[in-house]
Amino acid sequence: FHPSDYLPGLKKHWAAEGGEASYALLTRCFILVNSTTSRIKTVDTLVNCLRLLIEGDPESLLPAVWLATNSISPTYISLELGLGGSAISKALKKVCMLDNKGLKSLYDKYGDAGDVAFEAKKRQSFTLRKPKPLSIKSVYQLLVKIANSKGIGSVEQKQRFVERLVQDARGAEESRYIVRTLVQHLRIGAVKTTMLIALARAFSLARSPNAEYPIRDIGELSKLKKEDLAPMWAKAEEIVKTCFARRPNYNDIVPALLEIGVCDELLLRCNLALHIPLRPMLGSITRDLGEMLTKLQGRDFSCEYKYDGQRAQVHCDENGKVSIFSRHLEVMTDKYPDLVALVPDIRGDGVSSFILEGEVVAVDQENGDLKTFQTLTNRARKDVDIGTIQVNVCLFAFDLMYLNGEPLLSRPFRERRGLLRSMFQEKHYRFTWVKSIDATSQDAETVQEFLKSAIDIKCEGIMVKVLDNLPNPDLITDDMEGSEALKAELKAPVTPSKRGNKKKTQDEKEEEKKSGARRKALLSTYEPDKRLDSWLKVKKDYDSNVFDTIDLIPVAGWHGQGRKAAWWSPILLACRNPETGSLEVVTKCISGFTDKFYKENKEKYSEDGENTTKSKPSYIEYSGGHPDAWFEPQEVWEMAFADITLSPVYTAAIGLVNEDRGLSMRFPRFLKVRDDKSIEEASTNEFLANLYRKQEQKLKLEGKSGTTE
Ligand code: ATP
Repeated sequence: FHPSDYLPGLKKHWAAEGGEASYALLTRCFILVNSTTSRIKTVDTLVNCLRLLIEGDPESLLPAVWLATNSISPTYISLELGLGGSAISKALKKVCMLDNKGLKSLYDKYGDAGDVAFEAKKRQSFTLRKPKPLSIKSVYQLLVKIANSKGIGSVEQKQRFVERLVQDARGAEESRYIVRTLVQHLRIGAVKTTMLIALARAFSLARSPNAEYPIRDIGELSKLKKEDLAPMWAKAEEIVKTCFARRPNYNDIVPALLEIGVCDELLLRCNLALHIPLRPMLGSITRDLGEMLTKLQGRDFSCEYKYDGQRAQVHCDENGKVSIFSRHLEVMTDKYPDLVALVPDIRGDGVSSFILEGEVVAVDQENGDLKTFQTLTNRARKDVDIGTIQVNVCLFAFDLMYLNGEPLLSRPFRERRGLLRSMFQEKHYRFTWVKSIDATSQDAETVQEFLKSAIDIKCEGIMVKVLDNLPNPDLITDDMEGSEALKAELKAPVTPSKRGNKKKTQDEKEEEKKSGARRKALLSTYEPDKRLDSWLKVKKDYDSNVFDTIDLIPVAGWHGQGRKAAWWSPILLACRNPETGSLEVVTKCISGFTDKFYKENKEKYSEDGENTTKSKPSYIEYSGGHPDAWFEPQEVWEMAFADITLSPVYTAAIGLVNEDRGLSMRFPRFLKVRDDKSIEEASTNEFLANLYRKQEQKLKLEGKSGTTE
């Protein structure tokens, strides 16, 4: 038996020189993942690749995890490759002996830089020097060296490293993935989103002293009885995901896993830490106030203004050092020196260290009036000098996750909010609490008025948050829908510290199971990275037909007509399919753009520039026409629309609500560029399908039929 049996077709190349796991292993894993649309197979492949490393070359595990997730460090540590497209083109030309024309024709034909590298390498008749086989470790180390090359001569130095990688890639497939890694579009989306699951499973299976299942290859893994593995995996996955949500850095979790495996102690090892951002808790969308009030029957909740600004996580340690992080865990400390300077003023006497969260909003310093999100985006992005600040901001605080050395995540929201408001001090138009009222489902009118007042001052709507872990007995009446389940919750509370099934009768267990999902979704604890029903967003008024907005990626354009002849119009937009890593086209848009925007857009995606290609890249799903240029996906646009329709042309979300038809939208309108979102955070096909399901539900309630394009 050879460990490479875990990944069929690998035996010959599993180790590079010196016994280190070869880059060929990872390439093999990527090829297998790319060749299947089955999610089960994707996860199994990844699990096997990781097991192979855990058992055969544990030191290569961490570099492999970074490479497979197409990054080299967490977002809160600034380590960028800093390569332009020309560095890769130059390397390909030199290593594969191509001229400008030859390379351009490959780009026009294949679109994706990795596919171009694949073809170029395939056509290469001889090499400049014999390639030195790449190991996983050596590739990762070279990437780090590229990122760390700074100052005089760094451009040339980076270029040499890039050429070395392209040169040493053995064969066309390795070249494809090396180049995709360098341009940071690996195009195996499923790997990134399933890495935590794969790590949890791999560590439960690997042949360590704790291993329970010494299984050999993918075939055997798939044949195993689900009932045997499911409970073990579910527990392992929850532990690993919880750790990563609290401390999202593979450099912390992978070494800890190698040392102690998946166990409860891992939660202590990877707990909250100051100056390391935790993943924020997220809000679930509701259709309207009615749906929100039904969901939260029996509960006390807080309604808060939903300000339109930028989310900020503020960390402060005992020495007064402050760090500020964005919703996507990027460092914003230098962007907001005014907030940093504010910390000594707002922190009460008993506070030594804390992590709090709020929304940064541009405000008028004279009267505290809120300004638009657009105004906030006009503030410089980085390294703002406190003396030159033009756009003043106020931090509207809404949660407290850590205080004086102690994580508060498992405390009910009422308690966290109480501590926030009692231990910190407001400062006029600079720091205050989000405006809120406490209510129950019986206070529909008051809540509606509160929502209206929020919209009147240009907030986006309200956030509604459950205050306690248990329902309020005074709110449960027998005629209420779901009253039995609510009573059961009171009888057998699931508190975060006492989950488990100790000494319960069968009936009690059954009862608990029934209302278990609802209960978990309504705990008022702070759950990093989770989108639960204990935080609900109500964005628009009752009567509005607009459900929400959607974040799409512009992927292609046609030459405009008449006045718009010099610009791209219409523009084609796509959502993500995280399972396959492809982009699924949803709609064409011609509305909401200013002339200035059109002009800048055309400059960015200029016809012969490096951001466009003539032919459709393989990762884009669209067969409805031939745009004049395909855009390199790189930004996210927030879009409004009238409604979602079943479409015979667009294939987005096909199979999710209808076997043969995809989804599109009527009257799409551009709202804004989401500078705070990367393309990996664009809306998914599942999100689109959900919008459609909600819309159909609403139409049904109103007695109308569904929408087809
Ligand atoms: P999400 O953050 O849920 O993925 P998104 O980025 O599109 O989606 P929204 O749907 O607009 O954001 O809603 C959530 C955001 O609202 C939060 O991330 C936060 O920045 C902002 N926000 C404003 N006011 C509040 C509040 N009172 N409580 C929580 N979040 C608030």
